[in-house]
Amino acid sequence: MNAATLLADHRRFFDTGATRPVEWRRGQLEAFLRLLSEKEDELTGALEEDLGKSRTEGFLSEVAVVRAELDFALKHLDSWMEPEKVSVPGGLRPARAWTQARPLGVVLIIGPWNYPMQLVLAPLVGALAAGNAAVIKPSELAPATSTALARLVPLYLDRSAVSVVEGGVEVSTDLLAQAWDHIFYTGGERVGKIVMKAAAEHLTPVTLELGGKSPAVVLDGDLRTMARRLAHGKFMNAAQTCVAPDYVLTTPDRAPALAEALAEAVREFYGSDPRESGDYGRIITDDHFDRLVKLLPDGRIVSGGRHERAERYLEPTILREVDPGSALMQEEIFGPLLPILEVVDLDAAIEFIAARPHPLAAYLFSDSGEHLTEFTQRVQAGGLAHNVSTIQLAVPGLPFGGVGTSGMGSYHGYESFRTFSHRQSVFSKPTRMDTLRLAYPPFGPIKRKLLRKLL
Ligand code: NAD
Repeated sequence: MNAATLLADHRRFFDTGATRPVEWRRGQLEAFLRLLSEKEDELTGALEEDLGKSRTEGFLSEVAVVRAELDFALKHLDSWMEPEKVSVPGGLRPARAWTQARPLGVVLIIGPWNYPMQLVLAPLVGALAAGNAAVIKPSELAPATSTALARLVPLYLDRSAVSVVEGGVEVSTDLLAQAWDHIFYTGGERVGKIVMKAAAEHLTPVTLELGGKSPAVVLDGDLRTMARRLAHGKFMNAAQTCVAPDYVLTTPDRAPALAEALAEAVREFYGSDPRESGDYGRIITDDHFDRLVKLLPDGRIVSGGRHERAERYLEPTILREVDPGSALMQEEIFGPLLPILEVVDLDAAIEFIAARPHPLAAYLFSDSGEHLTEFTQRVQAGGLAHNVSTIQLAVPGLPFGGVGTSGMGSYHGYESFRTFSHRQSVFSKPTRMDTLRLAYPPFGPIKRKLLRKLL
């Protein structure tokens, strides 16, 4: 079916009003939960096939995140759907004013390959909770997951309202040419611009979940714990995570011990040869593998660095003595290389971050409350996290999204519901007592005087 027909079919269904009642929404969210529990093996198996992601990691970082979003939405849906009363200025009374959340219509969700399941299904939770019909287009670079979703989603969710479309650039381009009611895109900056241009043709609003170089500033604190939490957030999914710490800024006196503690954390997680570990992933494509290997000479490798193209295996690698002007520090790494750069103090670290495009996430590792205050007040990023990395995404109450080149709009929890709703305003005034007469022309000097007094 072509994109225009698909959209027209879903719009026809949406226009019947079938998706609006809370019962339909709840029914979809509950069926969605069943999909995740009954087909978990199939889904995590597909993730393993696409990204060498261990089934436990697939469960933790994809299935469980979507499940938490579903639980949260089911718990709060009634209150999110409640109209919100607004106070009416004296001169307009008697009257009532309120806002009500209405679904947008038929929305398009395009996802990337790195969390190929979570990043199409988590937005879909918000789209359905808000009462929309939706088309999701998973990444063609994660074909097993894309195929699994295309097979499983229609078995659980209302086919009149939800479709999965598989394909690459051509299919995506065809979808983007249609007049959707919202486009939700997750991926890189380059394609983000293509999406926004296509959406502009129809004045379709967009959410762009993009990436960038997310810094981690490491100062005072338990070095081993900090290193473990950094290594965990960085090297899961072979560091192909949009909010993974991209580089570390630390003081010269801490840099050698931190590099050693990071290498130790990697050994703890994946053993002395991570290639043998079932818990360490692989790079998605040969092109990405080649791109990453080319970045290796941009610093001095202090641990890791081994790689094997046939398997697209690249060892977790810590680098020092990195030139801030090198490619490693110019492009989003999106792979298991972690450069450590030196700065004299927190102030210098904040200036380093501020001199670059706003990242999707920024991390502070420090036990000092003053450092935390300074960091949260001065660092501009999509989100901040303190003494952890990457796991902040699992808190449904925290909006997730970028700022500047790392994206626009946000989702998770209530923000997902808001993203996929129009907050419609309603003003209502009874006809008894026409208190508005004062505002009707003709205006004479008496009316003018009275109005001045009243307003
Ligand atoms: P990708 O190559 O899988 O592309 C994303 C989607 O865009 C795919 O569905 C693809 O089919 C489509 N696409 C690709 N080229 C297109 C074109 N010319 N026209 C229309 N559609 C096209 O993913 P990617 O861009 O390599 O993803 C990696 C990037 O995504 C990184 O920058 C990462 O930081 C970012 N990312 C952001 C988040 C977030 O939540 N903010 C999450 C994951 C990844």
